[in-house]
Amino acid sequence: HHHRAAFEAAARGFVGGKVPLGIKRKGLRIVVTGGAGFVGSHLVDRLIARGDSVIVVDNFFTGRKENVMHHFGNPNFELIRHDVVEPLLLEVDQIYHLACPASPVHYKFNPVKTIKTNVVGTLNMLGLAKRVGARFLLTSTSEVYGDPLQHPQVETYWGNVNPIGVRSCYDEGKRTAETLTMDYHRGAQVEVRIARIFNTYGPRMCIDDGRVVSNFVAQALRKEPMTVYGDGKQTRSFQYVSDLVEGLMRLMEGEHIGPFNLGNPGEFTMLELAKVVQETIDPNAKIEFRPNTEDDPHKRKPDITRAKEQLGWEPKIPLRQGLPLMVSDFRKRIFGDHSDAKP
Ligand code: NAD
Ligand code: UDP
Ligand code: UDP
Repeated sequence: HHHRAAFEAAARGFVGGKVPLGIKRKGLRIVVTGGAGFVGSHLVDRLIARGDSVIVVDNFFTGRKENVMHHFGNPNFELIRHDVVEPLLLEVDQIYHLACPASPVHYKFNPVKTIKTNVVGTLNMLGLAKRVGARFLLTSTSEVYGDPLQHPQVETYWGNVNPIGVRSCYDEGKRTAETLTMDYHRGAQVEVRIARIFNTYGPRMCIDDGRVVSNFVAQALRKEPMTVYGDGKQTRSFQYVSDLVEGLMRLMEGEHIGPFNLGNPGEFTMLELAKVVQETIDPNAKIEFRPNTEDDPHKRKPDITRAKEQLGWEPKIPLRQGLPLMVSDFRKRIFGDHSDAKP
């Protein structure tokens, strides 16, 4: 597939560097599965801005046309309603494979469908990569570490995952997706990249997706109490979406397979997160305790040494700086123009 080699040589000389004099970089043709979702739509914005042709493949389970509508009419943009569990024929240079619900509420809604998406969906996209010689990037997750016995988590840690629990459709599904990715690399010489993404937040998250940052922000804006599950002492490390997108692009364009932890090492208990939301939105916002969900990991924090060294990447936006950017998006979407409940 000489066209791919040519595109990639052109891309390598361009990404992160100067365009060589007299050589105009040819745009890549890139598929983003799950591109109508939260992370995918921000990635699409960056790829389009860079001058690439982007095909979004999405079944709109949790994604929304509104997230990519601003590209309609751009000849470099296509949107296909398609479920990755079904085979798909396309000619492309790169595949960013994001299709999969990410919020526990969404991925537990139909666990068998979540497994099919992770296993059959990933298999199909790897089959596509093999057929056309495209480079394939899997968005895996920090959940592959399960309820970790190592802290912070390093990529060499194999994890502590319950294979028969309510989260298994997602974390075991992603572990299998990683296995498939490495087997296509070793067995069929597919060029692959693996990102293990830690909790990420930002504009365009589903307002009622049940994730903690979106829940607290929506609750505080609506003057409802913030629902803290369990004792609120469990921790997560929150990454702003633009930092993640930068990491994903560096990973795709770089020479290393990974897996790479992509996350912000700034670690917060859920009670501390609630405090930051109070500071950002409403100092009088109340907290309400609720029973925790099953198999909830007690702590999570990425060791990002590998990404720093091999990708030259680290997150730039701390929680207190990123949260207000998300809050203004949520404010617009919750109160809109037609609401009489304006704050
Ligand atoms: P999201 O739910 O907003 O986006 C997922 C997208 O995939 C949606 O547009 C959805 O409609 C689409 N999709 C789901 N199943 C599909 C299928 N079978 N066929 C086609 N499209 C399908 O979630 P997100 O936060 O943007 O997550 C994107 C990726 O990043 C996911 O693979 C997720 O596992 C991974 N990830 C995200 C986080 C995070 O904190 N956001 C953390 C770890 C990993
Ligand atoms: N596949 C796809 N698009 C392609 C090539 C393959 O969706 O362009 C699917 C194919 O239907 C199969 C999966 O990817 O279910 C794995 O393909 P592969 O060629 O690796 O395996 P095989 O078809 O030989 O089982
Ligand atoms: N959580 C919470 N209140 C909520 C939603 C979640 O306290 O309204 C907690 C949840 O129990 C977990 C953490 O926040 O300990 C992160 O949950 P989330 O669903 O955002 O992502 P996870 O990291 O579990 O995939």
